[in-house]
Amino acid sequence: MRMTGPSAIMSRVIEETLSPKKEEEGAIGYIRPSSLAKGCVLYVAMELLKVPKEEIDNRVKRILEAGTSSHFRIPKYFSKITVAKEMPFLDEEYRIRGQCDALIYIPPDLDVEHSGFYVVEIKTTSSSEFERIKEAGQPKEEHITQCLIYIWGLTRYYKSIPIRGGIIYYENRDTLDYHLFNVTYDENLLLPLLNEIKAMLPGLIIEGKLPEAHLPLDHWAHEYCPYLSVCDYGQEAMKLKKEKKSEIPDRVLAEIIGMRIVKKQRAKEEKVKKKTPRTLEELSEEFNWE
Ligand code: SF4
Repeated sequence: MRMTGPSAIMSRVIEETLSPKKEEEGAIGYIRPSSLAKGCVLYVAMELLKVPKEEIDNRVKRILEAGTSSHFRIPKYFSKITVAKEMPFLDEEYRIRGQCDALIYIPPDLDVEHSGFYVVEIKTTSSSEFERIKEAGQPKEEHITQCLIYIWGLTRYYKSIPIRGGIIYYENRDTLDYHLFNVTYDENLLLPLLNEIKAMLPGLIIEGKLPEAHLPLDHWAHEYCPYLSVCDYGQEAMKLKKEKKSEIPDRVLAEIIGMRIVKKQRAKEEKVKKKTPRTLEELSEEFNWE
C-alpha cells in the first residue's frame, strides 16, 4: 500500500539518510581491516583512491546498520572481562586504520593457562550462514584475517599490550544464539598480504597507479564487490563463473537442489522435535525412572 501523509515524509527521510554521501575529495584515505581481510589489493587501492562504489540497496544498508548497532549491545555480555571497547589503532607505514570491537583480559583466577589479553571480533549473521559456520567448525577465512589484523595493529600501535590471540563472536541475527571461536595469532599468515600492500603503496601514492588483482578468478569476493562494474578482472571472473554454471547439466543441478531441500526440511524437523515438550512417560523412559 502506498504511504501518504506523515508516514510518506518519514519514509523519504529514511531513504535520504541512507543515500550515498558525496565522497570527500583530496588525499588518499586509510585501509580498513574489513576491506583488507577480503584479500584483494586492487579493492583496497580503489578504496584508498576513493573510487566511487556501486550503490548498495537501502535494505542491505539497514541489515549492516543492525550489525553495527549490535556491537554496542553484545560487549555488555562480557563486560566483566572487557578492558576496552572500540579500541582504535593507526599504522602509517601500511596506511591501515581500524578499531577492534573489544579487548578482554582473562585473569589468572578464571584460568591460569589462558590468562591474558585477547581481541574480540563481533560478527552478526543470517540463520543459514550461522548454521553453516557452526557446521564447518571454523570461522570464515576473511573473519580470521580481520581478527589477525586487529591483533597485529593493536600490538604495533600500543606496543606494551601482550595480546595472546583473538576470539570471534558470531551472533545469529534471528535467534540471537551465539557461537565463539578461538583465533591463534600467527603474523606469518598476514605477511603475504602486508607485503602486497607495502609494494603497492608507493606507486599508488605517487602516480595513482592501481595494482594488479591477485585474487583467484573463482574467489567469492568478486561477485559481491562494489567495484565489479569498473573492474575488468572481476568481470572476467564473473564471465567464467557463468560459463562453468552452464556446463553443469540441468539433471545434476536438479539433484543438488533436491538434496538441499530435503536436508533443510530434515533440519527443520529436528529443531521442532527438540522444542516439543516431552511427556512424563517419555522422560521416564529416557532417564530410566522406575
Ligand atoms: S571485482 Fe574482484 S578483483 Fe576487482 S576489485 Fe573487486 S574483488 Fe578485486
